[in-house]
Amino acid sequence: MNKFFLALSVATFLVTTAVYAEEHHGASGEVHWNYDEHGPAHWGEFGETCQLGQAQSPINILTKQTSSIDKNNIIALNESITSSASVIDNGHALQVNVENGGMVTLDGVDYKLAQFHFHGKSEEQIDGKQYDAVAHMVHKSAFGSLLVVAVLFEEGKAPNKIVQKVLDSVGKSTQMNPADLLPKNSNSYFHFMGSLTTPPCSEKVNWYVMKEVQSASKEQIAALRKFYDHNYRPVQPLNGRIVESK
Ligand SMILES: [Zn+2]
Repeated sequence: MNKFFLALSVATFLVTTAVYAEEHHGASGEVHWNYDEHGPAHWGEFGETCQLGQAQSPINILTKQTSSIDKNNIIALNESITSSASVIDNGHALQVNVENGGMVTLDGVDYKLAQFHFHGKSEEQIDGKQYDAVAHMVHKSAFGSLLVVAVLFEEGKAPNKIVQKVLDSVGKSTQMNPADLLPKNSNSYFHFMGSLTTPPCSEKVNWYVMKEVQSASKEQIAALRKFYDHNYRPVQPLNGRIVESK
């Protein structure tokens, strides 16, 4: 091979590698987690707790093995505030950043709603059943601790008002009341300690899964899945954790 062709093939290799890096690893060349090539089985590379943690989410809730809730774990929900919200595609899920959200109070500590996002199938399972979608309402205390309220969705006939608003507002700012996500009976739920379901999979997250399942139309579920249809982590071992029921 003469020098010119050697130089040309090295240049081609470099350009090809750079394009590959940009497509697969982001412009910085950094590898990002996802649900495919760098999916849940590899997340230990992005946060060691994803691999080593003993209290990970999501879980399969076995209803017959739940305990009745400790009164200190009962929450007070005050989500009903109409707020400015921006709907973004965060690269893993459709997410709604809430400017001035409501809050959940647990054992005297207020957790303010920061954002909610959707998974194209539910992450949590109940007695082995995976639901058609789930919304996770992520709350943060002043000390930085996290509390997530999960609202399960099943395909039904009627369209869901707030899901439609989210779908209509991708890339935009709008006004919405996150309480519209909650079921009529938000007083019945499962509680357990878990983790973030995406890297870095940090633990000590209080999880509340609403028992009453919400419904969204077939078209809405399909529209959600046009963004992400398999952005759910597989269920994780319970490792002796207690799941409470209210
Ligand atoms: Zn989530």
